[in-house]
Amino acid sequence: MRLRHKPWAKDKLEQHPDIVIANPASCVGNWRHSFREGAPLHVEIGTGKGRFVTGMAIQHPDTLFIGIELMQSVIVSALDKVLEEDIQNVRLINQNARDLSEYFTENEIDRIYLNFSDPWPKNRHEKRRLTYKAFLQMYEKVMAPEGEIHLKTDNRGLFEYSLESFKEYGMEVKNVSWDLHNDAVEGNVMTEYEEKFSSMGHSIYRCEAMFR
Ligand code: SAM
Repeated sequence: MRLRHKPWAKDKLEQHPDIVIANPASCVGNWRHSFREGAPLHVEIGTGKGRFVTGMAIQHPDTLFIGIELMQSVIVSALDKVLEEDIQNVRLINQNARDLSEYFTENEIDRIYLNFSDPWPKNRHEKRRLTYKAFLQMYEKVMAPEGEIHLKTDNRGLFEYSLESFKEYGMEVKNVSWDLHNDAVEGNVMTEYEEKFSSMGHSIYRCEAMFR
């Protein structure tokens, strides 16, 4: 992703406190209050410029989507998409997802999306991968028992590692695709990275994993 410094991004994010939640810890257990009690709650970690989270929100207007993204200069593009389309069911968090358990309580999240997460290919960086066991432990704490993790990537190393990590953790893995765009999968919403890498001829890998 091309990163441009956007000095105005901070101000713009602050101008929309109803969408960009400045203090997510204050929403623990209450995320649905600003939308609809009982609504499914889906979280995308590493939302990037927001194509996926906004596309999914339009496709599923009764689900509340929360996009977490570290980089201000990137998440501001997600905010632009929410504003342009006047999307009501997206909230954005400009924080590090390693603190997820400070923002959500037990059983609060129904689904987590990991889309084209940084692969951290070096062995010494294993702990940074978003499917490392410490992350799975954290996801398990905040997810509903029947909750699912949906993962997409073009990185075969990260995909194989994640399948192994899910299984080692005792999770059930299902709907594994080694070539998503040539399998008949309905309703796939592409991310920015997915568009870029699939147009370069890369296969897209996808799977779903459940704790129970
Ligand atoms: N999901 C988007 C897509 O598929 O187009 C972006 C993919 S990009 C390779 C990974 C994104 O995850 C980057 O924007 C990065 O800043 C963000 N990211 C990485 N680690 C993160 C973390 N711990 N918490 C929040 N965001 C993170």
